Amino acid sequence: MTRLFVSDVHLGADAEPAIARFLGFLEREAARAAALYILGDLFESWVGDDDRTPAALRVCAALRTLTAGGVPCFVMHGNRDFLLGPGFAARSGCRLLADPVVAQLDGEPVLLTHGDALCTDDHSYQELRSIVRQPHWQQRFLALPLAHREALADEVRAGSRAHTARTVPYIMDVNGEAVATAFRTCRVRRMIHGHTHRPGVHETIVDGSAAQRIVLGAWYEQGSYLSCERGEYRLRELPR
Ligand code: MN
Repeated sequence: MTRLFVSDVHLGADAEPAIARFLGFLEREAARAAALYILGDLFESWVGDDDRTPAALRVCAALRTLTAGGVPCFVMHGNRDFLLGPGFAARSGCRLLADPVVAQLDGEPVLLTHGDALCTDDHSYQELRSIVRQPHWQQRFLALPLAHREALADEVRAGSRAHTARTVPYIMDVNGEAVATAFRTCRVRRMIHGHTHRPGVHETIVDGSAAQRIVLGAWYEQGSYLSCERGEYRLRELPR
């Protein structure tokens, strides 16, 4: 049976084509899979499990159909939707994964991570990340009224767009030393991540032995996913 991996679907109220693509993917490819792993940024923004926008409700209902049909679905936080919590899990039937996590896939330990923590050259982003991932900060944020949280999230997204526009591309990519450290400390020879929107399979050498880093693609223009069948990994694109 085949396991499927996606990330950076970036679903939101104004992302109707992406929602249609993703719901189609859940009904077709994912419904036949052994498991679905969503490695972060499923949503463009998530300000709390009380989010009842029609887009969020539709996506949760579709995930619920998938999981109720017997396909386990694992969801990791991304930098956009790191506030997905137990309410989301209950509504969708998905299980939340820690980031990073080492999964045993076909007898092999594989590191799964969203990927933003590997972008260590982006110092201002890492500083922001270290603040918003603190439980104390999250409790205070979640205590604000929903409309206030949504307004703050819009501001953060605008700031993030401006930051991306003025930052040289290599800074937005993973740092080679951070990648090597992750391979080493997690004792794996394969990792799967998203976040950079640069899909590809990178063969590398860590401490003298071969290692592979698979990067998932984003869903802005076209759906893309990774399939794993009996230890064989393949990046695929959905037909347009
Ligand atoms: Mn991301």
